[in-house]
Amino acid sequence: MKYWKTKNGIEIFQVLNRRSNSYLICSENGNTLVDTGRESAYKRLQKNIRSLNLKPENIDLLILTHTHYDHCQNAFKIKEQTSCKVIVSEREAEYSEHGFTPLPDGTFAITRFIFDLGKRIGQRRFGYKPFTTDMLVTGVLNLETLRITLIPTAGHSKGSVSVIIDNEIAIVGDALFGVFAKSVFPPFADDTNEMINSWGKLLKTGCNTFLPGHGHEIKRELLQKEYEKYSQRGRKT
Ligand SMILES: [Zn+2]
Repeated sequence: MKYWKTKNGIEIFQVLNRRSNSYLICSENGNTLVDTGRESAYKRLQKNIRSLNLKPENIDLLILTHTHYDHCQNAFKIKEQTSCKVIVSEREAEYSEHGFTPLPDGTFAITRFIFDLGKRIGQRRFGYKPFTTDMLVTGVLNLETLRITLIPTAGHSKGSVSVIIDNEIAIVGDALFGVFAKSVFPPFADDTNEMINSWGKLLKTGCNTFLPGHGHEIKRELLQKEYEKYSQRGRKT
């Protein structure tokens, strides 16, 4: 299992990989799960958490980087099982109550086509069991005892949030994509200009490592390069 550690000893385990990533942040003041993967990954998630000598009941907090189905399909079950508190952006709280978050547009011709198709196939496949939230992100939210700060990084979805750990490592959901070697640009986004502004916010943190919702870790240098490329492009048009 992939693993990171900050200078203050906060550990981050990648408890789900493959199609959607999920991370568990462990510190002496609590265990925080970030994203839950798809329904089909539930057993694997449980098994991986147990392999760390933790029980799922030891999860205190669940943060959702956003409420697309592939990140939150297990949120209801995890909350029921662990009684953890759930945090999402206030901009997506209403979706979680209904169990469906509108799908974003494709950012490339091919993904635009796929998602138009997906939207027609309907809500059932891309929905999730509704869940209640306990705390909403309305701006920068500092969870001091956990050494975690949440910052809004909208664009991929209107309520996308990034989790900054020790101002060193960020879990960014789909604000960045880790699937392509030389690009961080996600194939789907609600508002690409807003998303690129959010990359600027991530670069203003001290983080050098960015852990995405899909694919592999991204280093600051690549994000910096991509930010310069796309923010200039935005200015020209
Ligand atoms: Zn997404």
